[in-house]
Amino acid sequence: MPSKAFSVGEIVMGRWPGGHLYYEVQVMGYNKNTQLYTVKYKDGTELNLKENDIKSLNFFKMKKSSSGSRQRSRSRSRSPARTQTPKQSNSRGKEPRKLVEKEEVRTVDISKLKSVHQIQENSTNSKATCVTDYTGEKEKNKIYRLVEQKTCKEIVTDQLGLYNLQAKKEEAKLVNLEAKDGHLHAKKQAVQIQELGFGARVGMTKSAAVMIFLLPAILILLLLMCTQDDPSILNFPPQIPHPLALWNSTAFGIFVLWFLFQALLYMLPVGKVVDGVPLANGKKLKYRINALYAFLMCAVVLGVALYNEVNLSYICDHLLQLALSAMMFAFLFSIYLYARSWRVPADDLAPEGNSGSYVYDFFIGRELNPRIRNFDLKYFCELRPGLMGWVVINLGLLFAEMKVQNSDVPSLAMILVNCFQLLYVLDALWNEAGILTTMDIVHEGFGYMLAFGDLVWVPFVYSLQAYYLVNHPNELSWPLALAIIVLNTVGYTIFRASNSQKNAFRRNPHDPKLAHLKTIPTATGKSLIVSGWWGFVRHPNYLGDLIMALAWSLPCGFNHILPYFYVIYFTCLLVHREARDEHQCRKKYGVAWNKYCQQVRYRIIPYVY
Ligand code: NDP
Repeated sequence: MPSKAFSVGEIVMGRWPGGHLYYEVQVMGYNKNTQLYTVKYKDGTELNLKENDIKSLNFFKMKKSSSGSRQRSRSRSRSPARTQTPKQSNSRGKEPRKLVEKEEVRTVDISKLKSVHQIQENSTNSKATCVTDYTGEKEKNKIYRLVEQKTCKEIVTDQLGLYNLQAKKEEAKLVNLEAKDGHLHAKKQAVQIQELGFGARVGMTKSAAVMIFLLPAILILLLLMCTQDDPSILNFPPQIPHPLALWNSTAFGIFVLWFLFQALLYMLPVGKVVDGVPLANGKKLKYRINALYAFLMCAVVLGVALYNEVNLSYICDHLLQLALSAMMFAFLFSIYLYARSWRVPADDLAPEGNSGSYVYDFFIGRELNPRIRNFDLKYFCELRPGLMGWVVINLGLLFAEMKVQNSDVPSLAMILVNCFQLLYVLDALWNEAGILTTMDIVHEGFGYMLAFGDLVWVPFVYSLQAYYLVNHPNELSWPLALAIIVLNTVGYTIFRASNSQKNAFRRNPHDPKLAHLKTIPTATGKSLIVSGWWGFVRHPNYLGDLIMALAWSLPCGFNHILPYFYVIYFTCLLVHREARDEHQCRKKYGVAWNKYCQQVRYRIIPYVY
């Protein structure tokens, strides 16, 4: 374990989380386990920082006094604790020593800090403007408003996250305007590779490689298990058919056509266009909200197909081949996504998808919002081909059940599974805009993980209960069916109400309808809800989702664990997701998040977890 570099009580410069600016802070404590320092800013905000994000006061002074005049003025722009008037900026290189002295005493009162900063690059003149916004009266705004002209080089160095305030010769070469055509990525990655360490990278590469092959294997095994007369764990593994029997070009063609049909519906100029949440560079992307219209169009097409006696049980007969086609498509699509991510500016990359491990980055996704003109590939895949495909597969399985069981009507269990899951999909489509604030859209890159999840895992794994019921009917009594309906309703209510509450609050925290909610302010300017659903547990939406997952499996009875795969997998997924979100929130909100966790003790299940 590395030794502690800063002592309690010491005044140092702390990096503002998520930014590149440093402020004067006092070290309040050090946690050996997390290896985080608790530091206090001048406005009283306490945050936990990594050692890398802390510099001694001398660090800044030394850089200035040891560098040439040009670099000295540059170093000034790196420290937010220093202001700069246009006059001083003109004096670059003229009175170096004097300038340093002035800088050292000029410290911005960050108690006036509202939302940290925005960096806007002006590519036409290779300059960028760094604006720090402060609250307070107009006059104070003038005093505290900091507008620095930075060269492209400085901004790029900022983006690289290099703490060395002295621009080195090699960096100067690197950040020249070539940064735009990909050198920036290489440098940024190189820095991250160094930070990660060899062992960590090998571990990440291995686990990503395993997942890339494990997920398709699990899906194929699950589907094969469902076709067994006795799908018990004792009969595992099922007999694997010849690979050629798994491939079917017609099935692949159907999948591609389905994808293109959905793309066409997505492009229809119907539905309103809304803004996404601001990106790290301050920009907001536009998204068209028309998934529900697309679904209605699909329903019409499906109705016409059924009227014309199109055999929907084809889906059941070729489910394995369709799943394999979707896998192949998702894999090729991920290669395309990975390849194109090397041509986009650094700004467009996802924070986690740039580790330096090629396999890991391919898996987790490099580009945050890959778009072909206005066509947002990630947003499109999240709700359309897979989610609507799931409903169509369920319907096909319902018809197949009637055929296999030689019945004129589907079983009660099959009806419940179809209805519950249809409600879930309709809810997602109805609340399409809500997805814009989820982790997938805001933080995750679009790579194999999401492409496979959206296009393969959701439609083919989530329909497992219906597939199971085709060959393993379960007589459901009405009282039991009613109990399951109540359970699903409870789950749905928690899920919907909590998601809506958070979405409404994030969209407009001053909404009078939300005035009753207690909140904790955070140093980022956003607040955390600490009452209502979000005061019940820290992820009430996950709780509701899990209750529904259970309600979808119960109609299949208790003979086998196979239809409960979804609940088990989903619990693991949400526990893992919760941990990742927790990590992100702690990084983002620091002490405020800790306060929230103290007040709302349970993560997902009250008194249990
Ligand atoms: P959430 O919608 O729960 O979003 C988490 C974010 O909410 C945090 O990062 C934080 O972001 C904000 N937040 C957390 N706590 C608070 C609080 N107290 N007050 C205000 N904001 C808070 O996460 P997901 O995107 O993971 O899930 C969205 C939905 O999708 C869930 O219902 C989940 O169950 C479902 N889901 C379904 C899956 C499926 O396969 N069926 C898979 C994954 C998710 P910030 O502060 O930046 O706004």
